[in-house]
Amino acid sequence: MEANRMMFFRELLQQRIAELLNDQMKTISVLNSSNDRVVDQNDQASMEVDRNYELRIRDRERRLILKMKEAILRIDNGTFGICVDCGEDISEKRLIARPVTTQCIDCKTKQEKIEKLLGKKDSRVIQYSFQGSLQDQQDD
Ligand SMILES: [Zn+2]
Repeated sequence: MEANRMMFFRELLQQRIAELLNDQMKTISVLNSSNDRVVDQNDQASMEVDRNYELRIRDRERRLILKMKEAILRIDNGTFGICVDCGEDISEKRLIARPVTTQCIDCKTKQEKIEKLLGKKDSRVIQYSFQGSLQDQQDD
């Protein structure tokens, strides 16, 4: 990949990390402020659900940040954008959509088919299947 494209993806990744960290700061303050409120039991229960939901999203974001940092390391060592399975270049369109990906679309599709055949369930999909808006943000 050309140096200026590498630069572009490095900036893209750094920007997304900054956005995620910013979101996390916001959630921490929301969680803290909700502790202070006096609420009845129903509210308490629904708040508990919200809190678990939030914490799960935060956990996912934390892992995503880690993956993004790994992607930046790959930019540094020159392996970014190269499929770990077949060694071919990953399309730029795919990298822009999912800069943390380590597989080209062909290898990813193949892997998903095999997992389906083996009946192997992706825990992430189960865990986040109810979060419609997060679906298109799957890691890869
Ligand atoms: Zn591949």
